[in-house]
Amino acid sequence: MKPAPFAYARARSVEEAVALLAEKPDAKVLAGGQSLIATLNMRLSAPALLVDINGIDGRDGIVHKGGMVEIGALARHVQAERSEVIASFAPLLASAMPHIGHPAIRNRGTIGGSIAFADPAAELPACLLALGGEIEAQGPEGKRTIKADDFFRGLFETALGAQDVLTAVRVPAAAQDTRTGFAELTRRHGDYAIIGLAASAKADGMGLKDVRLAYFGVGATPVRARQAEAALSGEASEKRIDAAIAALELDPPDDVQATGAAKKHLAGVLLRGVVRQLMEPAR
Ligand code: FAD
Repeated sequence: MKPAPFAYARARSVEEAVALLAEKPDAKVLAGGQSLIATLNMRLSAPALLVDINGIDGRDGIVHKGGMVEIGALARHVQAERSEVIASFAPLLASAMPHIGHPAIRNRGTIGGSIAFADPAAELPACLLALGGEIEAQGPEGKRTIKADDFFRGLFETALGAQDVLTAVRVPAAAQDTRTGFAELTRRHGDYAIIGLAASAKADGMGLKDVRLAYFGVGATPVRARQAEAALSGEASEKRIDAAIAALELDPPDDVQATGAAKKHLAGVLLRGVVRQLMEPAR
């Protein structure tokens, strides 16, 4: 199928992109195109104008500064996959990157695109939530920063307005006591996950504190399992993991991949494995 007709404009700055988005009520940003072009071709979306942001300079850096790792919106997945900064200071992202689609997708798809698209089965939104990260956006009113906890609002719906451009994402840089864990289940490598779990915590003596668990593939958005997080705080033991699994408050709906009941069971299986990763010393 071919897309419905649309106009095309190439922005040279974020300010120009924001101004172009204001020209048509249903204009859309075009980044890597890996999700947007498919939705256009399937006529799930028919914007009047595509605002291509690929020509904006200086928005693809990955840097460690001020205790944070900042990733420019236009950094491609492959850049993050190969980044020394990510490997050293954002190990959760490093674990997740190889699970995103296939190399061809990762060569074009952008970090900003994945977060803005907010597919509920995608890896990066859940990682951002698990790390307590933040999103930088620029719109007609200027720049603002949105916490990951407040960003994912509903199915493919975020705190971004129609004229906002996501410009960067930031996550706290891993310290000596940072622990992270990641696991997902897919039918084939590179498929969207049936269910997945991204997690972070701080080592606390023989146990964990500040545990954050973000599941994906279990609802309309990535979902934190707050009761299980609380149950995991303290000295680690199999009993504590059992209590966390029993406390999992997820209620995943059935979807084309699995029943909600199967996903709920798998959520516990993933949690057990991910907590073992959290207990390992930082790499
Ligand atoms: P685009 O497709 O260009 O845009 C996606 C949406 O985000 C559009 O609505 C666009 O307007 C908006 N947008 C993009 N950038 C911005 C911005 N800076 N500011 C505001 N809005 C913006 N993803 C996964 O996470 N896991 C997978 O396993 C996976 N498998 C895939 C398999 C296939 C076969 C394909 C085709 C894609 C897959 N993807 C997967 C999606 C891929 O990760 C995309 O790259 C990503 O979802 C979107 O990034 P993009 O840069 O291509 O964005």
